Amino acid sequence: MRLDLHTHSSASDGTLAPREVVAYAARRGIEVIALTDHDSTEGLAEASEAARAAGITLVPGVELSVGPDENRDVHILGYFVDAADETLQAHLSLLRDGRLARATRMVEALRASGYDITIDEVLELADLGAVGRAHVARTLVNRGHVESVDEAFDRFLARGRPFYHPKPAADPASAVRMLVGAGAVPVLAHPVLSRVDDLIPALVRAGLAGIEAFHADHSPEEGRRYEAIARSFGLLVTGGSDFHGPETPSADLGSVAVPEYVWPELLAAAPARFRQG
Ligand code: MN
Ligand code: MN
Ligand code: MN
Repeated sequence: MRLDLHTHSSASDGTLAPREVVAYAARRGIEVIALTDHDSTEGLAEASEAARAAGITLVPGVELSVGPDENRDVHILGYFVDAADETLQAHLSLLRDGRLARATRMVEALRASGYDITIDEVLELADLGAVGRAHVARTLVNRGHVESVDEAFDRFLARGRPFYHPKPAADPASAVRMLVGAGAVPVLAHPVLSRVDDLIPALVRAGLAGIEAFHADHSPEEGRRYEAIARSFGLLVTGGSDFHGPETPSADLGSVAVPEYVWPELLAAAPARFRQG
């Protein structure tokens, strides 16, 4: 069983359209894929249709950016989301407003320093999806201000660089409660990257259902460590590549080894509407 429970499409900062992510997964022999765009469910309808056609299972998902402060980047994956849920969409809309405000601040600061880009160009690249630093970076590449997206992050946009601005603060426990209320399964994304172990007990009290132990940026040892932490709280274990496009081979689709038990356990936690559908 090959599965990848963490992927992005052009509905957020991935480079492939939702149907292309699914087709790419099918070509790579993946049987279960979750599309987990940042703060957006826009890609799910297209991905579900493509998955049906390709004969693979699509888990409708989302990845919420809910850092409690500017130093910590808590990301909560929501699995089996219902894109028609109004509470979920209201929450996502607020998070996307914060993304737009942040991208606008970064563009204004870049312009003030002589880098001639506009927020309209950035939003056009984001194609009405959830805008992020990757879109600002790609605009800088298109305008010839830098050679690559990596250079844009390293020089300008990464945390600690001159044009970095944090996203507005959000409450991760509220996001977990919202997902539970909307019938989804909330999972803490890439805990090694987020360094938020101290928040885990409060998130569990709020209804956290799992921890993403296996991830392209976690070592196998770190994966096993978070697998044990998840088990100690009685939580599910998940894993995925955090695929953003084939141009990043270190996080290619299906590149992360995920234990066999993960899918049956996650499926057992799925709402009835998913198992029947
Ligand atoms: Mn991303
Ligand atoms: Mn993330
Ligand atoms: Mn991600």
